[in-house]
Amino acid sequence: MQQTLPERTIILLGVGHTHAHIVRMWAMAPLPESRLVCLSDFPTATYSGMLPGVLAGNYRREQMEIDLVRLCSAAGALLITDPVTGLDLDRREVLFQERPPLEFDLLSIGIGSVPKVNAKLASDARVVPIKPMQTFLERLETPLLGKLNEKREQAGTPLRVVIVGGGVGGVEVAFCLPRFIASLARRPEQAEQPQPDCRVTLIHGGEELMPDASSALRRRVERSLRERGIEIRSGHRVSAVSRDEVQLDDGTTLPADLVLWSTGAAPPPLLGRLGLPLDERGFLLTEPTLKTTAPVPVFVVGDTGTIRDQPVSKAGVYAVRQGPVLWNNIRNAFQGRPLDAYRPQRRFLKLLNRGDGTALGEYGSYAFEGTWAWRLKDWIDVRFVEKYQLLKPMPMNDEAEPMRCHGCGSKISSTSLFRTLGELDAPVAAGVPIGLREADDAAVIETRGGDRLALTTDFFSAPFEDPYLSGRVAALHAMSDAFAMGARPTSAMALITLPPGRSSRQEELLRQLIEGSLAEFRRSGTALVGGHTTEGLETVIGFSIVAEPWGERLCRKGQGRRAEAQGPSALSPQPSTLILTKPLGTGVLLAAHRQGRCSAEWYQALVESMLASVEPAARTAWELGAEWMTDVTGFGLAGHLLELLRGQPVSARLDLARLPLLPGSVELAASGIASSLWPANREAFWDQIEFVSGDEHHPAFPLLFDPQTCGGLLVVLEEKIATEFLSRTPDATVIGQITNTGSPGTIEI
Ligand SMILES: Cc1cc2nc3c(=O)[nH]c(=O)nc-3n(C[C@H](O)[C@H](O)[C@H](O)COP(=O)(O)OP(=O)(O)OC[C@H]3O[C@@H](n4cnc5c(N)ncnc54)[C@H](O)[C@@H]3O)c2cc1C
Repeated sequence: MQQTLPERTIILLGVGHTHAHIVRMWAMAPLPESRLVCLSDFPTATYSGMLPGVLAGNYRREQMEIDLVRLCSAAGALLITDPVTGLDLDRREVLFQERPPLEFDLLSIGIGSVPKVNAKLASDARVVPIKPMQTFLERLETPLLGKLNEKREQAGTPLRVVIVGGGVGGVEVAFCLPRFIASLARRPEQAEQPQPDCRVTLIHGGEELMPDASSALRRRVERSLRERGIEIRSGHRVSAVSRDEVQLDDGTTLPADLVLWSTGAAPPPLLGRLGLPLDERGFLLTEPTLKTTAPVPVFVVGDTGTIRDQPVSKAGVYAVRQGPVLWNNIRNAFQGRPLDAYRPQRRFLKLLNRGDGTALGEYGSYAFEGTWAWRLKDWIDVRFVEKYQLLKPMPMNDEAEPMRCHGCGSKISSTSLFRTLGELDAPVAAGVPIGLREADDAAVIETRGGDRLALTTDFFSAPFEDPYLSGRVAALHAMSDAFAMGARPTSAMALITLPPGRSSRQEELLRQLIEGSLAEFRRSGTALVGGHTTEGLETVIGFSIVAEPWGERLCRKGQGRRAEAQGPSALSPQPSTLILTKPLGTGVLLAAHRQGRCSAEWYQALVESMLASVEPAARTAWELGAEWMTDVTGFGLAGHLLELLRGQPVSARLDLARLPLLPGSVELAASGIASSLWPANREAFWDQIEFVSGDEHHPAFPLLFDPQTCGGLLVVLEEKIATEFLSRTPDATVIGQITNTGSPGTIEI
């Protein structure tokens, strides 16, 4: 996180062909005193030029994807994937569906275009629009597999796919789709079955395919499509889709099992809600400088914009060339210099993948085809997309100044903590059944009226660059201690440190942090009743929580250091099961994320897991009579399990193969990435681990010491109760047992 808050915020709405360039430039030379915020509806962007190649099997899916999580974290930019609903131009704010608005000093909008399709057709399950491209393959594959199976049952009937749209996209998809269908049919579960024939028809509203192409290229394209058995129907529009046919605007029908929609570009509906000037088709109108024609610091790029008096077709080549102009203009705008004008190129190389190792193309009025054309296309496309895929991650921990982790990875070591607490001579206060000496998840005090209250506090350096997300995580993390005790949080006090900066910047940061936490407090019925803020070097957030026990019984974690500890009887090995309710790995993934090494896929799973409240699992365990329960946080599974065993006459047997792990955690741990608290955890707990049948070389072993932020609950339940708990808590996993085979208070592997 920054040491002082940046003066300016630049927001990119949509990260596609143009904006990816800005993020890349930011990675190389960020503007001083500024922050870059990227708003995207998906954590990946798709390079459309390679989508047909993915269908044809020329590329793996990842090759056409730009991982925005990695790109943004390598660039030090904040990525937000919450849906945008509009703009408040007077206040210069972007508005969101759920989170508070974000202020901008400069905004650039590039959310591409959508295929032109009426709402009725778009909502028909048989119609598969080409966008969003990020989900296109899944949306295509599922119905295709269903249709392939149907066709096998009706032996001899071909699979009929209609592609609507005869632009570059539709034509390339028509060339490449048959190979995708063949690859599905060759899958092991399908391979034994007879292969149905596949018939592709390309329907185009204009008189000729690819109206922007030269007639020389058009002729080659049409011949080439026909040679491959693809039927072309020009001059027709689809007006309706029924069970197994499409109806054309002249009333005729065509058999169709699936309709793939790749028509010309239409404006995304959001554009109409932004309050910015539009062209006659509904795209945002700009000056040649790419700045909107409205007097606000808003730029519009790629398919989303139309330049006044010099409109060009909606094509990626223009979007790509606008990148450097936009980058210059962002800097010009802040330095008070005149803006550069973008001049669309008059000619550009057009290359179309035929999916069979050849391509068709044109430059000006010269058309060509062949394997060399495909090689050229492949070289251009792969080189282009790799610029955004191979950005250097942030440097790994360097010995002089190791990168410190945030979230629960920023805790001090358990050795230091317990050594200090052990030396304290804190008086044992009356009316404190569970206090410092018991070292449980929460303290418990008795009021004069005899009621008991659970008190707990938690705070840490903001685990994410996104303050709203950090606020949500901090609230969930703080409440988790109360749930682990078997108590309902009723009120919370905030503890927040903000870096110095302009007051409006501090206010915005504070608002994002608090609104995030409120989203979670509202869900659990907890009132935020006060707090304290201070200035410091980095953003720190946490809460102290007051909670009411659900009933007489409180769940405990170990006997603490007081032999006469109050609470349930000692842990018994009588068939007792150890259960973990969430996968491990948040520490290593957060560390990797800070270094730009956490992929979008891993990041999504990480955030989803962290944002899952432990409340339902805790409540279920408590209702089933659980006496021993704790939440796994900074000291990792090993540390918290050892706390659970402290002072007990039993040991625990862990089965490493059964540990639930977040995707990516094993790979990252094996590559040497670890949270900054990990070495201290390992050192503190290593001696209390006995190797019986497992060993330290198991890939899951390092995750025993991984500090967890918003980790799962560790619950001990009798076997028959465990079965009921697992049936009511589907994400929970049995990870071992309580035994009396090892030394008391130790973990056996
Ligand atoms: C199959 C196919 C092949 C093509 N091949 C070529 C080709 O070979 N050459 C060529 O020049 N053009 C080609 N095109 C056209 C090209 O894809 C577009 O012109 C180009 O993508 C436009 O770039 P952009 O940056 O404007 O938008 P995009 O690259 O589409 O980027 C927009 C981004 O914004 C995101 N987004 C959308 N809505 C929101 C929202 N509400 N909030 C936040 N984010 C949002 C999207 O997920 C996307 O990542 C092809 C199109 C298709 C369909």
